[in-house]
Amino acid sequence: MKQALIKLSIFLFFVLHFSFSSALGIQTLIKNRITGHFDPVEDPSFVLILSEEYPIKPMYVHRIVFDAYLQMREAAQRDSIEIPIVSATRSYDRQKEIWEYKWKTFRGTPYEKITKILEFSSMPGTSRHHWGTDIDLCSVEDIDWTTPQLQKTLEWLKENAHKYGFFMPYDDNSKRPGYKYEPWHWSYYPISDFYTEYYRKMITYEDIQGFHGDNLAKELDVINRYVLGIASH
Ligand SMILES: [Zn+2]
Repeated sequence: MKQALIKLSIFLFFVLHFSFSSALGIQTLIKNRITGHFDPVEDPSFVLILSEEYPIKPMYVHRIVFDAYLQMREAAQRDSIEIPIVSATRSYDRQKEIWEYKWKTFRGTPYEKITKILEFSSMPGTSRHHWGTDIDLCSVEDIDWTTPQLQKTLEWLKENAHKYGFFMPYDDNSKRPGYKYEPWHWSYYPISDFYTEYYRKMITYEDIQGFHGDNLAKELDVINRYVLGIASH
């Protein structure tokens, strides 16, 4: 029931958005949203969050996702677990900055550089962080997740996150294609499942352009391997 209501509210959001922006088709609006071509600061469905860890860095997330996160955080705190958000929504432009920085830093052929960058970072236009549904918790450093504190946190998340609508898309299943294991990355599936389906149906390699190495996106099959290469829940 709750899931159906959320789906309805997202659908209505797009319809309302569409009626107020008749210059753009609804297809374009959805495409722009799922490839990060929008500004969360200007979008009323997003909310500014302030992280205890990084109070200086403004971060935005979808309102519905933030409400679910707050409920999960409260439950975690009752069990003496802290799950601060350390990264949330990133626009195409922000993802492009990250991509181009790594492109400049890494050595090798374009193909070698891209496969290295893709271990942990998405091509601009292909990140789930564009959607406002995905958040990184506690730390994005592998090594931190081997400490007893974050091992305990991870156990708690594996046991409880699904109760609040979150799952781990980049799990430790070695048969899964795409990004390496990311215990910090959690996705709010009542909305992100929708976006995954939109992505599968609407996005082609023509929509993934405008950065170094974009000509290799198709050859690397980034849509199937990286965007759709996620764990099930
Ligand atoms: Zn992430």
